[in-house]
Amino acid sequence: MDKNTDFVMEKRIEKTIKNLEKNNMNGYFVEDEQEALGKITELLEKGDVVSVGGSMTLFEIGAIELLRNGNYNFLDRYAPGLTPQEIKEVFRKGFLGDAYLTSTNALTVEGELYSVDGNGNRVAAMIYGPDKVIVIVGKNKIVDDVEEAIRRTKAIASPANNKRLNLANPCVKSGFCSDCTSPTRICNNYILIKRQSKADRIHVIIINKDLGY
Ligand code: SF4
Repeated sequence: MDKNTDFVMEKRIEKTIKNLEKNNMNGYFVEDEQEALGKITELLEKGDVVSVGGSMTLFEIGAIELLRNGNYNFLDRYAPGLTPQEIKEVFRKGFLGDAYLTSTNALTVEGELYSVDGNGNRVAAMIYGPDKVIVIVGKNKIVDDVEEAIRRTKAIASPANNKRLNLANPCVKSGFCSDCTSPTRICNNYILIKRQSKADRIHVIIINKDLGY
């Protein structure tokens, strides 16, 4: 990007953060992965019970490694050898934890979070449960409004996630969502977080990079 498009993006991010604040959520803008990890460390307390939602962004920035460093009581859904039942227990324990880290599928300039989920564990924890929710978002996920969020998710996030998981769904072959009825469909819960009643619960860290889907 050149300095003019950088300027436009900075203004978009500035407006998004202002609108998050109007919606009783905190927004932060950081330059890169290291700065994002620094902000996460600032927001977490040593010893916090932390769990995570499924997210490529968390892996890409090194957040999973950070949580495994021994400073936190990490409920690690990715720990090798977990059975499906044990993973389900990790998801449920996460609701009683201190903090939840995740990404979202789209962040509107109006300061809203739009997410699509298969099981619903991720969006459920974002809505209710942990007292602190930290959402990490690459600038590529900023959209104008809910309509664009829905379009972005259908056109990019959902097919890309299906491809990553190599599922037997039509989008994995075509690259397009056909609103399938496949038994392995992962697009089941479409959630918009418009506002929080409790201030200082949701913290959105926007990174000046393209990350995740
Ligand atoms: S609804 Fe079906 S086709 Fe569309 S993205 Fe989800 S799994 Fe793929």
